[in-house]
Amino acid sequence: MAYRTVNPYNNEVVKEYPFATDDELQSALATDHDLYETMKKQDISERAKILHNVAAKLREHSDELVRACTIDMGKLIGESKGEVELVAIIADWFADHGEELLKPEKIDTIATGDAEIQHHATGVVMMVEPWNFPYYQIMRVFAPNFMVGNPMILKHAANTPTSAQMFADVVAEAGAPKGSLTNLFLSYDQVTEAIDDPRVQGVALTGSERGGTAVAGAAGKALKKNTMELGGMDPFVVLGDANMDDVNDIAWRARIYNTGQVCTSSKRFIVMDNVYDEFVENLKKKFAALKPGDPMDPKTSLAPMNTEKSKNKLQKQLDDAIAAGAKVVYGNEPIDLPGQFFMPTILTDIDKDNPAYSEEMFGPIAAVYKVHSEQEAIDLANDNPYGLGGIVFAGDADHGAEVASQIETGMVFVNNFMSTLPELPFGGVKLSGYGREMSHIGQMAFVNEQLIVKTDKPNMGNLAGGLVAVDPQD
Ligand code: NAP
Repeated sequence: MAYRTVNPYNNEVVKEYPFATDDELQSALATDHDLYETMKKQDISERAKILHNVAAKLREHSDELVRACTIDMGKLIGESKGEVELVAIIADWFADHGEELLKPEKIDTIATGDAEIQHHATGVVMMVEPWNFPYYQIMRVFAPNFMVGNPMILKHAANTPTSAQMFADVVAEAGAPKGSLTNLFLSYDQVTEAIDDPRVQGVALTGSERGGTAVAGAAGKALKKNTMELGGMDPFVVLGDANMDDVNDIAWRARIYNTGQVCTSSKRFIVMDNVYDEFVENLKKKFAALKPGDPMDPKTSLAPMNTEKSKNKLQKQLDDAIAAGAKVVYGNEPIDLPGQFFMPTILTDIDKDNPAYSEEMFGPIAAVYKVHSEQEAIDLANDNPYGLGGIVFAGDADHGAEVASQIETGMVFVNNFMSTLPELPFGGVKLSGYGREMSHIGQMAFVNEQLIVKTDKPNMGNLAGGLVAVDPQD
């Protein structure tokens, strides 16, 4: 697929970008590797200053970045603004905390000598990112790896090339040395070629199972460490004693934010029988109140989906779900606008053998399930191939947290909208992938945790017997 910006609001082809040449890839690998050698000798505080400057430049260029993001993939202008501010917050956080997180850790040991773990860069990181949060997805990898000193090559999604290039330009303008983040419009084969290259020592992907399987497969074959941030079918559990005003205020947002194209969108609403009817009625009302229109207009509340291809795929999944017996409680009608609009839809009566029971639907479709006990809610939440996030609403937050810890996902929020911040680890289990981005855990994703044990004089006596070669007997 070619790299091009097509405005999903009016289908205008705004700009096409040629694929990178093989020479460009080779030159990027060489530049990035040289930078790795240079950064090894540099004080980390130098990079903290530059990363703070990246945050400042992001804020300075906010208007252009916001516009580019909305034109690339259709996000509501207010949500694009929120994303740019969030990425600046992430840059500032890693700039403030990276040095402390990466400082050597002393270890209490019976070994002969003082032991510590040092945290070193490992080399070039190849990152492959999706279009749904064009800047945030890059920053989750960029900030921690820049701090430790791993240069990066970015392959962004084919439909968000303008945002990708703008992000890389801002990083360069902030004073990051050439090679810190090299954006290339790579083909899939070139991504594999980069992963095979010995100078690349880490691979990070955020995307679907399809992309994840291909890229993790290439990384596994080349024995390169990798992190996979994949899809999700996050449960939104409503217990019988939940505060329904809060539930009603948050449920629709948890599905509609970013036109439902979020890995951690609530895709399955699992609702206790005593509050089920109220829940469905309210969700219908909220969906019906949404106003489709130009995402550049702050009054618009329903943005188009990111591409025609995504919209067609979602419609096919919805048709298949209905053919397999799901009931449409609301939606599934065309929206009379030229862009890639999809009417928010509510489905119920999804049986276990319906494809909608276990397939991620990446757009504004809410699947609602009625349950009769807390255990049934937990079992249904866990009867799924994915394990990314989730939300639990309960009358008592501590009880909600007890339920949350029985849900097999990487993240659960109790009585709140699911949010992402630099200090909170992000990632999942099962088909949602492995590894974590952000926080102290994300900082260590591509770090050599090197053990150094030192002493002034060997003292083998401290070692347990049998762990050193014994002196030959006369
Ligand atoms: P995708 O098709 O897997 O694309 C993601 C990235 O992978 C794009 O840059 C894509 O490039 C690239 N890619 C795909 N196949 C590849 C291959 N064989 N070799 C090299 N690169 C390849 O994902 P998507 O459907 O656009 O994105 C939505 C998915 O991402 C959803 O499933 C969502 O849940 C998931 N997601 C997960 C997280 C998380 O943190 N867990 C966050 C956001 C989204 P092209 O664009 O050129 O195909």
